[in-house]
Amino acid sequence: MKTITEPARQIPLYGEYEVVVLGGGPAGIAAAVAAARAGRQTLLIERYGFLGGMGTAAGVTNFCGLHANVYAHRVVQGVASDLLDRIDRLGGLNAPHLILGKIFAQAYDTAAYKIAADDLLAAHKVDILFHALGAGVVMQDDRRIHVLMVETKAGRQAVRAGVFIDCSGDGDLAAWAGAPFEVGDNAGSMLFPSMMFRLNGIDPEKAGDAWRTIPELMEKALALGTHRFPRKGAIVRPQKSGIEWRVNFTQLAREDGSAVNGLEPDQMTRGEIEGRRQAVQAFEFLRTVPGFEKSYIVDLPPQLGIRETRRVIGGYMLSGEDVLGCASFDDSIGVNGWPMEQHVAGDVIFRFPPIPESRGFNELPYRMLTPEGIDNLLVAGRCASMTHDGQSAARVSGACFVMGEAAGTAAALALGGNTIPRDIAVDKLQNQLKQQGAFLGQDQSIPEGL
Ligand SMILES: Cc1cc2nc3c(=O)[nH]c(=O)nc-3n(C[C@H](O)[C@H](O)[C@H](O)COP(=O)(O)OP(=O)(O)OC[C@H]3O[C@@H](n4cnc5c(N)ncnc54)[C@H](O)[C@@H]3O)c2cc1C
Repeated sequence: MKTITEPARQIPLYGEYEVVVLGGGPAGIAAAVAAARAGRQTLLIERYGFLGGMGTAAGVTNFCGLHANVYAHRVVQGVASDLLDRIDRLGGLNAPHLILGKIFAQAYDTAAYKIAADDLLAAHKVDILFHALGAGVVMQDDRRIHVLMVETKAGRQAVRAGVFIDCSGDGDLAAWAGAPFEVGDNAGSMLFPSMMFRLNGIDPEKAGDAWRTIPELMEKALALGTHRFPRKGAIVRPQKSGIEWRVNFTQLAREDGSAVNGLEPDQMTRGEIEGRRQAVQAFEFLRTVPGFEKSYIVDLPPQLGIRETRRVIGGYMLSGEDVLGCASFDDSIGVNGWPMEQHVAGDVIFRFPPIPESRGFNELPYRMLTPEGIDNLLVAGRCASMTHDGQSAARVSGACFVMGEAAGTAAALALGGNTIPRDIAVDKLQNQLKQQGAFLGQDQSIPEGL
């Protein structure tokens, strides 16, 4: 590849903070709120003009991983509860619905999520910098980040912090700082992305429980040769109002059949266009489903939904065995109840721990958040330290809220104790998280209710 040399230049210092969080998805929201609530001057930087991450920017509209197994306990509390209450007050939260007879998920409206998240961060006095793309770091030495660079319409700016928290989903900040990471399945592919969309104009009475019949109708359409589909396992479910349904139906591959890579702009460009083309194909099929005849595409999200890219290597990598075996950890910071959900070529494969026999959740160790090699950095969310299989489960919103809240709380403790996040007293972190309402597993009794 040809290169050019960029001349060195002076960069304005946008601000100096105790904690800077890159990325405003579920992990970033929880991290920023937790750090600010602990009294730390906190800035959250986000490339879009709204919060929610894939949950809003990719039109996910559904929380998974807040609950664990068929006995219907909401095991993720803390900051997530505050956010859910705010979404609910705006009328944007569905009652939880059962998935595959084994676990609950809970749909929401993206507008309500964006507003509720703004309110939540304002209530905790988090500073926000929207429309700022994290673009690189300047290191103080091999182990410490000095500043994060952001590109804005006002030009490149620098932000200094005592502790940085990478909640970019892609491990951007950790990678720039030189932390080790893996990408996808380490064999050139990763969990496949999807272009989500929502339909409106559905007749709810006529559509009934269409999510049950759609897979059969897809089989018939395939056999008749009237339609082709990029994957099995389509998810088509109602939002709060039964006239609006979300559609998780598409799958974006490269020409060689491997998953579109969310770190490659050319692939993302083709993925966005192909994603919208697949959405139209899916829509043409869905209009043949009773109740959907007069439906129309009411929303295509701002971006293609990316499930997996970099996974930063930390003190422990959560594995698929940990998820299936409901693992416990001494340094638990919360739990994940979501099963492995593998978006492989042409299909979606769910692998649950034994349900209802087991408790149906694994604990999440603090070491997942502490990247190797960099001292003033924590990583939370779908790019935290997990194997490809472990990430297929703990990448969902519930676990991302848990990791974010723990990372923000840990950053504050490190600053308060004049130490680095990796060396904080984990029992102090655990006590603090429990006081904030978090459920860590271990000897705590499982929270009641939904
Ligand atoms: C199609 C699809 C369907 C899914 N379905 C579900 C579901 O039903 N339920 C569920 O719970 N989960 C679902 N997930 C998974 C879930 O949405 C994500 O894994 C989760 O949002 C990850 O949270 P996060 O905070 O780690 O990262 P993200 O949600 O990815 O948020 C990262 C944020 O960082 C910002 N950012 C990234 N890089 C930069 C940068 N360099 N500079 C500035 N900002 C940056 C992004 O704009 C984004 O706002 C789905 C995911 C996809 C793609």
